[in-house]
Amino acid sequence: MSLSYEIENNGAWQTYLAQVDRVAPYLEADLIPYINTLKRPKRALIVDVPIVMDDGAIQHFEGYRVQHNLSRGPGKGGIRYHPDVELNEVMALSAWMTIKTAVLNLPYGGAKGGIRVDPKKLSARELERLTRRFTSEISPIIGPQNDIPAPDVGTNADIMGWMMDTYSSIKGHTVTGVVTGKPVHLGGSLGRVRATGRGVFVTGLEVAKKINLSIENSRVAVQGFGNVGSEAAYLFNKANAKVVCAQDHTGTIFNDDGLDVKSLQEHVAQTGGVAGFPDSSKIEDAEFWNVEMDILVPAALEGQITAERAQTLKAKLVLEGANGPTYPDADDVLGQRNIIVVPDVLCNAGGVTVSYFEWVQDMSSYFWTEDEINARLDKLMIQAVDDVWKKAQEKSCTMRTAAYILACERILKARKERGIFPG
Ligand code: GLU
Repeated sequence: MSLSYEIENNGAWQTYLAQVDRVAPYLEADLIPYINTLKRPKRALIVDVPIVMDDGAIQHFEGYRVQHNLSRGPGKGGIRYHPDVELNEVMALSAWMTIKTAVLNLPYGGAKGGIRVDPKKLSARELERLTRRFTSEISPIIGPQNDIPAPDVGTNADIMGWMMDTYSSIKGHTVTGVVTGKPVHLGGSLGRVRATGRGVFVTGLEVAKKINLSIENSRVAVQGFGNVGSEAAYLFNKANAKVVCAQDHTGTIFNDDGLDVKSLQEHVAQTGGVAGFPDSSKIEDAEFWNVEMDILVPAALEGQITAERAQTLKAKLVLEGANGPTYPDADDVLGQRNIIVVPDVLCNAGGVTVSYFEWVQDMSSYFWTEDEINARLDKLMIQAVDDVWKKAQEKSCTMRTAAYILACERILKARKERGIFPG
């Protein structure tokens, strides 16, 4: 029987299903009977979130929490506030979390949530009310041993603080481990905010070594200049790469000699976007894809690298800071053109890895230094790059397929060993 979402449309969930289909031929025969466990979410909750706006009117928002798979541990994954959030997208994002936690061998399943809202249009008080009501609506299925939310596009540490406080109020005691990415003085972890961008840089550096691409003077283009893109750009700049192009919702800017990323970060903090940065020229958004570059960092939203864009892309290396930026047919084109893609489920896993460290610190009420955190993060990510790279060599496949092989084996072995209840 088909489920409605299997025939729904050509959204991110269909991209994910195509990725699972690609890995199936590589899996051991005894795991194949369990593969459908990956092709449907375990649990999906849709909630109505009514709030009183500052002018006294009542507005309703639609929210979601999807637990895609819990075979290896509690659900884990962010909360997205964005006007395009819908069930198909949240399902895909939750599934990518299942794969991501398994690639890094973190003891979690995968989950994701979100609200269809433009957070920029709400006041701080409205945003707080929205977050608290949403947390209350999803509280039956979250918890430190059940499912642990975190920040994603449009959410941040303050929002995680409100979520933690609301959940704690419901439980009657402080439960720091219910969310990660919290403010540091509320049980958050040092290094968490910059962890995803750092992971993009660290994995990029490792793979660049393997393909003999020198970072010094290499040309980098970054799409998305939020938490992930700006930190990755900053670290590449610091390593003497030239960040020649940056694009966000306000426009696309270019400097052939490389942008000064630190100043650009200050400009974005002041003005809300990259547009109008003094030491750069403005180019058409479509031109972003034709810029002479060695490294592309898509760090915005899913569905950006189409087969058409992949045909002419100049990059040698693509570092997926965003979740799901590449369509499956574009993956084929990039593969044929020998352009290496470090897939999202590996490349941007720095965030969830430090989320895991945060959860461990909360559980033990013992906190580590930032140096300890970064050292542990680098170690886990470099190990995961090596594992994925070796698997890709062994199977003559892309790094994405290799990452999926490693992850799906771990997830399906766990499923098989646990058995199907009631048996
Ligand atoms: N939202 C981030 C991601 O897509 C982090 C998730 C987490 O820390 O749980 O990986």
